[in-house]
Amino acid sequence: MKELFYTVNLINHEYWVAVYIGRDFKKVEKRILKHFEGNRPDDMEMENFRGKCWMRSGFAPFIFVNTKYCKTNIKICATLAHEAFHAIEHIFETIGESYKGEIPAHSISIILKEFEYYKNK
Ligand SMILES: [Zn+2]
Repeated sequence: MKELFYTVNLINHEYWVAVYIGRDFKKVEKRILKHFEGNRPDDMEMENFRGKCWMRSGFAPFIFVNTKYCKTNIKICATLAHEAFHAIEHIFETIGESYKGEIPAHSISIILKEFEYYKNK
């Protein structure tokens, strides 16, 4: 599996997520620092996790799927769905909306659909 980086707009252009799927920790660390404008997240540990979602107030969530452990598409998607849920929780809490119902469910779907789109690109 080649590495992938993509972003997905949700709701409108103000709310989006960044997704990195791969195992190059130096590269993902650089992307995270750029993404959070130099604000280093408290917990940068990533090597021992299948996935992670970094969140910070005022920034889009950053999802990481570790292909060191997720070696098949179904494992990548399972981890991506898990981390996408955390990202959606963060966004919906930010805008004061409940994350029940169709809109958060579709938001998780589009994050996974974009994986298929970029994987085949
Ligand atoms: Zn979790």
